[in-house]
Amino acid sequence: MSHFIFGPVQSRRFGLSLGVDLSPDKKQCNFDCLYCELKGAKTVDAMQTFPTVQEIIDELKIALEKFSDIDVITITANGEPTLYPHLEELVNEINRIKNDKKLLILSNASCIYDKKVQNALLNIDIVKLSLDSAMPVMFKKLNRPNNSVSLEQILKGLREFSKLFGNELVLEILVVENFNDTRDEFIALNRIINEINPSRVDISTIDRPSAYKVKAVSYETLEILAREIKNIPVMIAKRKEFDKNNLSLDEEEIIQLLKMRPQSEEDINNMFDENSKKLLLDLLKKEKIKLINAIGINFYKLN
Ligand code: SF4
Repeated sequence: MSHFIFGPVQSRRFGLSLGVDLSPDKKQCNFDCLYCELKGAKTVDAMQTFPTVQEIIDELKIALEKFSDIDVITITANGEPTLYPHLEELVNEINRIKNDKKLLILSNASCIYDKKVQNALLNIDIVKLSLDSAMPVMFKKLNRPNNSVSLEQILKGLREFSKLFGNELVLEILVVENFNDTRDEFIALNRIINEINPSRVDISTIDRPSAYKVKAVSYETLEILAREIKNIPVMIAKRKEFDKNNLSLDEEEIIQLLKMRPQSEEDINNMFDENSKKLLLDLLKKEKIKLINAIGINFYKLN
């Protein structure tokens, strides 16, 4: 039985994923986010208990034989995976055995300024980093970091890392009601996100029970806030009940919408009414717009 490997689980954004959990027995995180799906816990600045690289690789080899049709191997933890002290060695070993599978890591970005962490992440196919706030006071309120973490260091690290990294970088913003759900916050986030220039930004809200009493925002709020993120493909996570199919736009309005930022095929399918979809396809045929792929997700973009 696997102790460090879980899944496969179907991920809407990355395909069929086999998970590697670097802290299966307890939460070890340098954040204590209000929205965490794990129970609240005292933050740490280093992992106290962790598996060896060999223990993980032995289990992963068995799992890869059994689940040969997976798309991606995801490094994660009950907590923060970049606190794992042998991350670079682990990444190199996984790369040796993964064949055509992609390697993905989900991290809170807290250690991205650390050269050792940067070196480990440079060899990963898809790096997904959280950035919920660009404002120090809100960052502390929402993510409740350990004293060893500073937003300034994170932002500096993100700028540095994005210049070095040649693979796919995704930033994720999780929006919480009465915390980072303001226009000012998203204007500040837009500024830093455009400096980082990731392949994609994912915007979501709480959709599972959380460690503390905090609330999700509505899909409409996510939509409004997402409009502040310019030039970068944005994916808004949504539940089915948000789907509307009633947005009616003419050609010029569609062009204006895409001028603001690329729109995902999924969002278009969910939001546009039938006539707007037809106009969009006409624009595609006339080559006024094009379809691009940002890490498995199609986006319509101005040509
Ligand atoms: S970074 Fe992730 S694991 Fe850590 S407290 Fe926040 S949500 Fe939980």
